[in-house]
Amino acid sequence: MNIDVRSLSSSTVNSFVLCPEQFWLDKIDHEPKCQQSANLVNGVAIHAAAESWFRSIQHKVPLSLEILKRVYRITWGKLESFNPVVYDGKTREEIQANADLLLELLMAENVGEVVGVEVPVRYQLSSDLDFIGRIDLVTRNSDGQLVIWDLKSSARRYSDDDFRRVCEQLVLYRGALAEPAHLKVMTLVKTKTPVIETHNLVPSYLNVRVAELGERFRMVKRSIEAGVHFKNRGWQCNGCGFAHVCNADERNGELELHYISRRVA
Ligand code: SF4
Repeated sequence: MNIDVRSLSSSTVNSFVLCPEQFWLDKIDHEPKCQQSANLVNGVAIHAAAESWFRSIQHKVPLSLEILKRVYRITWGKLESFNPVVYDGKTREEIQANADLLLELLMAENVGEVVGVEVPVRYQLSSDLDFIGRIDLVTRNSDGQLVIWDLKSSARRYSDDDFRRVCEQLVLYRGALAEPAHLKVMTLVKTKTPVIETHNLVPSYLNVRVAELGERFRMVKRSIEAGVHFKNRGWQCNGCGFAHVCNADERNGELELHYISRRVA
């Protein structure tokens, strides 16, 4: 199998870095998933409802909370029809009640004038690699300046490490714009009493270096093309859709660099 990686998104790079084995099983081998975590399903469903909300205020026909809740539940149902959902502590009813409160809070947020939702981005990082992505939300503030937003749902308040990861993504998005833009993240925190927090992201404060990001993308490209993958066990194993394959693997328990021989006959 010859793999030629022409474009990479931040989420692809992050998923490769988080667990290369999971990345391979998903994106290269296309193994069917055995399960998905309720946390992931909840995050995708909240994101879908938030996208609908921001599109509706962009077009000045704001949706009601009831419609947003319906978008959330329809998205949940669709995802659930693909793979079984595994729960970790909270029931589906508890998770969905929490999401309803977050959607209500989201509707009260003032983000400024919405100028774009799920905006596609593509530009050249090097002669053989493009950066691709989608910006969750682009707004214009009262000073007329663009703001690039990323929306995150999280079980806890964000740390500086979390902010740095989001900032890296937004700095790359900003590279596609023709005018300067502020960077912001909106975190929908799924604590017992849910809260929404917005934070300005300052790359220099968070030690985000554009040159290092470009290098990381190029190294991930080379690693994928060379067939490099290994198991990186951690919190990401909870609800991993490929655990049935990963745990049955003869390399179970080992953490090793595994070159192209296993994948390419
Ligand atoms: S179970 Fe853990 S180590 Fe195995 S593929 Fe999934 S995330 Fe990676």
